[in-house]
Amino acid sequence: MTRKITTGDGRTIEVECLSCAITSGLIEPTGGVIIETKHFHAHQDIAYPISGLVIVASKRHIYSLDELTKDELIEYISLVQEIRRAQRRELGIEQVYYFYNEDTTHHFHLWMVPRYSWMNEFGRSVESLRPVLLHAKNKMNNKEHLHNVLESIELLRNALKNYRG
Ligand SMILES: [Zn+2]
Repeated sequence: MTRKITTGDGRTIEVECLSCAITSGLIEPTGGVIIETKHFHAHQDIAYPISGLVIVASKRHIYSLDELTKDELIEYISLVQEIRRAQRRELGIEQVYYFYNEDTTHHFHLWMVPRYSWMNEFGRSVESLRPVLLHAKNKMNNKEHLHNVLESIELLRNALKNYRG
């Protein structure tokens, strides 16, 4: 079954799996690739203009953590840690929320959502995540935020460019 996806720059594309479309390069995420390793692909979903938000997707079309091979697992955890280090070092991000669910409509991907003080009005922990993302999507989609987001992507990409896993 295919789904219609509207990209950050307004194009509509029909894909079977958004994660496959992005990790294979069929869809270029706005801001480009942050880092690509043998088994994983990291990028930002520009629909949610939060600086330093990173999505880490597997290249293989799988849904669950227990489907990762030993190789993928080792690469995954060290890549996530390296991205986390870059978020702290380059962007001063002190805390990150990690979100990943196995009943997703597209395949295995982890959200790394930085925690900023403006998010406090939406509460803390898991119940704040959806309101925070919706607020970003509906109220922060302007030039200024977009500029910050693109700048952050560039900083993360540069910081990670020599990472080889
Ligand atoms: Zn897929």
